[in-house]
Amino acid sequence: MAVQATASFSKLFLSRLMHQYPATLDREGVSGKRVASRLAQLSKIGLTEQQGSHRMSFSDEERAAKELVKVWMKEAGLSIYEDGAGNVFGTLQGKDQEQSILSGSHLDSVPNGGHFDGPLGVLAALEVAQAWQETDYVPETNFEVVVFTDEEGARFNGGLTGSRAMAGEIDMANQVKLKDFNGKSFEKVLEDHQLTLKGFSGSKRSLNKVKAYVEVHIEQGKQLEERNLSTGVVTGIAGPSWLTITFKGDAGHAGNTPMPGRIDPLVAAGEFVLRLKDLPEQVSPSGVATVGKLEVTPNGVNVIPGEVKLTADIRDIDEQWKNQIVAKARALIQEVEEKHGVAVDVQETLNVTPVKLPETMQQIAAEATEQVTGKKAYHLPSGAGHDAMVMGRYVPTAMLFTNSKDGISHNPKEWSTLEHCVETIHALKKTLEAIDQKDRSELL
Ligand SMILES: [Zn+2]
Repeated sequence: MAVQATASFSKLFLSRLMHQYPATLDREGVSGKRVASRLAQLSKIGLTEQQGSHRMSFSDEERAAKELVKVWMKEAGLSIYEDGAGNVFGTLQGKDQEQSILSGSHLDSVPNGGHFDGPLGVLAALEVAQAWQETDYVPETNFEVVVFTDEEGARFNGGLTGSRAMAGEIDMANQVKLKDFNGKSFEKVLEDHQLTLKGFSGSKRSLNKVKAYVEVHIEQGKQLEERNLSTGVVTGIAGPSWLTITFKGDAGHAGNTPMPGRIDPLVAAGEFVLRLKDLPEQVSPSGVATVGKLEVTPNGVNVIPGEVKLTADIRDIDEQWKNQIVAKARALIQEVEEKHGVAVDVQETLNVTPVKLPETMQQIAAEATEQVTGKKAYHLPSGAGHDAMVMGRYVPTAMLFTNSKDGISHNPKEWSTLEHCVETIHALKKTLEAIDQKDRSELL
């Protein structure tokens, strides 16, 4: 986008954020204007024709966004460190420097994504650090504002790369085989941004020195909006299981094949899709199941299909619950197979372990949210993956969601009001202050 158009978008974005922002939220060192102006400045980096954000991981745009955040980290009095995976840490020194509390998110986006998914979590953590600095609050332990590299995974079809590298979860033998959409190897992509494979694998860090991790993120759903709440407390992060199912039948002419005796795989698949939606609620309140992709072969108007291939995406925050829904889906497939006489093949093509967040951490975040909003805290699961999912496997972790308008995300229309953003930042600040007063062992 032309420089002038970019500047005028960013100006408009800022004034839209500031519109009807209640100045009473500017207290205890937190500044809504500062948050809004930083969101607006980040929005200029990778701005698309559709006024969305295009900051692919390991791109010049992601790099530019990180460099800008480093400038603000310096302004907030933080000391800056970048690891071999390109994760950026800005540290506010605590009284005891043995341990750290971490908070942050990511700055990369999906292609033509929004301006809040990621940046809000980074700027929220930064705002808390700056507010503490300005009000002379010295935390008991170090506080690190973190920017994780490549959360979205749009480049290598993976995701959570920075946090997984820090946790030492990446299998380097597999990682080096990855190629991006231009056929560039992972190593070459690292090199293009002054990173190396050695440095990347050396970014593993001892996480028992991390006392807690707290992430702010937009909800990407409508639950908070429907309840008119700014902030929600996340119960857990759902891990998906994918079942890729192929239904095989007898292809035939739509006109010349009588109805009796047909073996139509699309009719079988149709029954599966229809009945799959009733399975999650038989198991848990947080489970979901979706078929979003279906291929019909040969896909002709006047042809009874010979084959239908679809993928069921099943998620829950509890592994046992998820496994039960998957088992029910498998039983349904078998029932449909027998009823319609089709041949079925089932492959589990993905299985990510969900992460439940500790009750104690949820409780601390809920009390903080209630203090700030004056409303009873609302708990909800996260259906999408976040860096908090990786951190939650090793470190006491909490997550706060901010109200997203119409639940839209990964889209230029993504929007959260500044009032909602700043209320969540206050809740984050109080959550971090409460964690700061406790021992790590009390948090799990
Ligand atoms: Zn995100």
